[in-house]
Amino acid sequence: MIIIENCAVATVDAAGTEYADGHLVLDEGRIVAVGPGHAGRYHRSVRRVDGTGCLATPGLVNTHHHLYQWATRGLAQQENLFGWLTTLYPVWAGLDAETVAATTAAGLGWLALSGCTTSTDHHYVHPAGAGDLMAAQVAAAGEVGLRFHPCRGSMDLGASRGGLPPDHVVETIDDALAGTADAIDRFHDPAADAMVRVAVAPCSPFSVSPELMTEAAKLARSAGVRLHTHLAETVEEEHYCRTEHGCTPVEYAEQLGWLGDDVWLAHGVHLDDAAVDRLAGTGTGVAHCPSSNARLGAGTARVRDLLDRGVPVGLGVDGPASQEAGQLGAELRQALYAARLRGGPAALTAREALALGTVGGARCLGRAAELGSLEVGKLADVALWRLDGLGHAGIDDPVAALVLGPPAPLELLLVGGRPVVERAELRTVDERDLVRRGRRAHRALLRKARR
Ligand code: ZN
Repeated sequence: MIIIENCAVATVDAAGTEYADGHLVLDEGRIVAVGPGHAGRYHRSVRRVDGTGCLATPGLVNTHHHLYQWATRGLAQQENLFGWLTTLYPVWAGLDAETVAATTAAGLGWLALSGCTTSTDHHYVHPAGAGDLMAAQVAAAGEVGLRFHPCRGSMDLGASRGGLPPDHVVETIDDALAGTADAIDRFHDPAADAMVRVAVAPCSPFSVSPELMTEAAKLARSAGVRLHTHLAETVEEEHYCRTEHGCTPVEYAEQLGWLGDDVWLAHGVHLDDAAVDRLAGTGTGVAHCPSSNARLGAGTARVRDLLDRGVPVGLGVDGPASQEAGQLGAELRQALYAARLRGGPAALTAREALALGTVGGARCLGRAAELGSLEVGKLADVALWRLDGLGHAGIDDPVAALVLGPPAPLELLLVGGRPVVERAELRTVDERDLVRRGRRAHRALLRKARR
């Protein structure tokens, strides 16, 4: 049992309940009490955490990522999405299980240090002979200790058939579907307190055939798992869909069975009013990735409009090759900035930004009953942010300090009640080891690409 007290608490529940001075009690992986003032007396062995100067929030939920890209950060710095992808596909062709294990551990360790307790990953590059990439990822996520939603990605539309990726980095449709079914069989856990849940995730309209999209949706629905893909990220993608399919990306997705309350889409930047209506009407979620969209110059998503229509919207840092900073805590501020650059100073509040990063993400992943708010019965995934240092001094509103201020250091990060970060240091893995492994993976991949 863990008791956290003397801290501000932002529960992010439906009523927006907050306590200027409150407590949390966690036991056997769940929240058993949350409220104002001190916790009651407990006659059991208890770890008491003094949260003076801190704010407790739900752990953040990252709804879109490509962890393998940790090995290719800092490249293709001035490209748009298509130029960036065509530069990097040949490098990614050298991926193997060791690289994927190292980059998964490094990327998830870095996310934990920015308050993330649950992360997705979207891995869509499966070179022939690369080894068991999914097993490598799941093992690395277990090492770091975050809840992990690996999305088994795929591409089958190589350049010779009109796609963007070179032929040597795509799979056959049969291999993609078999690999996806195998990932679900081996790793998907439907339990309420699951540490690993698998989703089905063909990559994008310009790298996947309509046949694979349709068959993948059928596979996901027969297995009872969620569906994820990139959609409406750039004007170039919109142009591709209009030229190849005679419709917008959202119309194309709907034709293929890819809208629904079991689907969340990465980006959703270029949406017309009809597209926003279709996402709202079908309950389709959006993983909003404002820093990546800015890095690639892709545009600014209509987050205010999506929220006003009730679309589930979560935050994603996106892959570290298109967003080298990769801090989910900082993405709260970036989401607020992006919304306000588009819609003015009332377009998104600090509390709405925090909700995007917590309960909004939980909705995208179909886990709003278990994650995303600090409520009795939910899983004990908690971020305790230190707000009494120089960077936040004098900001009386702790939620404003967290969202508008600089990235806050973590006093404690718990996943299912287990400490993953304490006093801004990783407890489950050695950060220096992650640095070494990440650097080695980067060098090995670039060396292979030069051959
Ligand atoms: Zn992406």
